[in-house]
Amino acid sequence: MQLTVIGFWGGFPAAGEASSGYLLEHDGFKLLLDCGSGVLSRLQTFVSPNELDAVLLTHSHPDHTADIGVLQHALLIGHMSGGKEKCLPIYTHSDDAVFTETLQYKSYTTWEPVKEGVTAQIGPFLVSAMKTAHSVPCFAYRIEAGGRVFGFTGDTAFKEEFAPFFQGAHVLLSECNFYKGMEAAGRAGHLTSEHAAVIARDAQAERLILTHLPHFGNVHQLKEEAAGFFDGEIGLASTGLTIEI
Ligand code: ZN
Repeated sequence: MQLTVIGFWGGFPAAGEASSGYLLEHDGFKLLLDCGSGVLSRLQTFVSPNELDAVLLTHSHPDHTADIGVLQHALLIGHMSGGKEKCLPIYTHSDDAVFTETLQYKSYTTWEPVKEGVTAQIGPFLVSAMKTAHSVPCFAYRIEAGGRVFGFTGDTAFKEEFAPFFQGAHVLLSECNFYKGMEAAGRAGHLTSEHAAVIARDAQAERLILTHLPHFGNVHQLKEEAAGFFDGEIGLASTGLTIEI
């Protein structure tokens, strides 16, 4: 599997960048994980929208879904301009009415529900979901392909259940919206650097990438704080960062 960071900011994108969006590729299959504000613009640096094979969303907050509408327009206009017609499946949970209203768009996108406890096959990826602790329904995902394991927390407060869910992950991409010692759970449901590192440690993950980064403070401090709790490799998400999982 190969992971490319399209956007990594929490809440809203910094100038010229994007909020949550990640391209996960395996055997030529291109899965877009989250599609937040700024993602469609940044995505085109790497692939064109009609090269995507599927989209997988964690939850309905705009920093994870704001560019779904413009992705749908890109598919429509691409087809009207002589490109091949393609129906892009968008996978996510069924616990948010917004999804039923927005993810089905003409013949260009379909909404494909994912259920906790039921493994979904999306192209070459085996996808398991776990409900997180956030202000709206949200899924964390464990994604397996080619004998490798990738975990993504989505947005969430700390939960003990993450350790077994992400057990043995080769790469854990964890949200990290707050610094160590800050109140994170009560602010919509987020993680600190300490929480992210403890999840990686208890899941015996090989590598931790911190994302959904805050717009305040020095984000490099998050990595230093996490290193106090997790011995594996730790990185900060950045635009265009590409990782072989
Ligand atoms: Zn959120």
